[in-house]
Amino acid sequence: MAHHVTLIPGDGIGPEVCDAARRAIEATGAAIEWDLQEFGADAYEREGPALLERVIASVRERGVALKGPTSTPSGGGFRSINIALRRELDLYAGVRPCRALPGIPTPFPQTDVVVVRMNGEDLYAGIEYPRDDETASTLRELVATTRGVELADDSGVSLKPLSRTGSARVARLAFEYARANGRRTVTAVHKATVMRATDGLFLEACREVAAGYPDVEFDDRLVDNACAKLVMRPQECDVLVMPIMYGDIVSDVGAGLIGGLGVAPGANLGDDAAVFEAVHGSAPKHAGHDRANPLAMMLSGAMMLHHLGEDDAAERLEGAIGEVTREGNTLTYDLARDGRPAARTSEVAEAVVARLR
Ligand code: NAD
Repeated sequence: MAHHVTLIPGDGIGPEVCDAARRAIEATGAAIEWDLQEFGADAYEREGPALLERVIASVRERGVALKGPTSTPSGGGFRSINIALRRELDLYAGVRPCRALPGIPTPFPQTDVVVVRMNGEDLYAGIEYPRDDETASTLRELVATTRGVELADDSGVSLKPLSRTGSARVARLAFEYARANGRRTVTAVHKATVMRATDGLFLEACREVAAGYPDVEFDDRLVDNACAKLVMRPQECDVLVMPIMYGDIVSDVGAGLIGGLGVAPGANLGDDAAVFEAVHGSAPKHAGHDRANPLAMMLSGAMMLHHLGEDDAAERLEGAIGEVTREGNTLTYDLARDGRPAARTSEVAEAVVARLR
């Protein structure tokens, strides 16, 4: 029976890389029925907030989506609906594997790290008080009376809320992921030495969850130390779980270790829905030129196939991508090497599809 999947091409380079990924996924032979949903800056201008309801309804019904990147116009408004998609579908964890591909130059070809990050709360909760806002001065007074700390009267304030419930469920997802994917260790990444009320709580929740997974090793590491280890001995890192702020930075460090954003896949997961999307954005300057790297989107598609239980199709897709990167003759501008010309997005798609026939 066919799997029902929402396909969201997005905007910018989204439609090009999504088309390449869809072609590669179909070439594996996995039976997928796509429900095409436009969702991007242009569609938002036409439809307004109703756009979100339409897309959410489709993903809710199917439980799975493949999504291209969507731009955030500087005028505002849209950012909130991109975030709203994650919030409405309760996609509370971002999973970003950073695995070196054959032939792609990296000082660490053994890199095979998975960053699991919280998708909400933390400094990204957006609770901010600009320095000239009246509430900022109320907060400064509160800090002075409750903590005896005088904040400079031109301080802005950003709050970092982190809940035990939110921490525990992302930790649980990281352990489940480790178990399902034959991973040995989950490491909690934090700064609990400084932020006891938040990162300390996160670490405590991770420890409690770890007790329920005796088959998976657990340790923890300060975020600065984790970054140093990543760029010195990434082969010793396995599954890293952390709040969103650190996750944003650490996953880009991981992407850098394996060849950049063009090869960094991702998924946003909740208990009822899963949206697979590359880590990169809509790269507007490349849009419409058939030159963006589709591999990150294809690898996100492989993650989706695993999620759907199509492990054989997923592994063949990963294998075909590996053959293309090992040979190095059909790679986009960001990966082209040894003086070989950069390939087009569509040529990379054809090269991967050809190896799946
Ligand atoms: P970006 O990821 O689009 O681009 C960063 C750099 O990486 C650019 O130099 C770009 O050319 C390059 N790059 C990215 N993807 C590539 C690919 N597939 N192939 C080759 N090169 C690639 O990040 P940005 O410039 O900060 O953001 C552009 C827009 O995308 C913004 O509006 C941002 O809000 C949005 N964005 C969306 C998502 C999402 O929808 N999930 C994620 C990140 C950014």
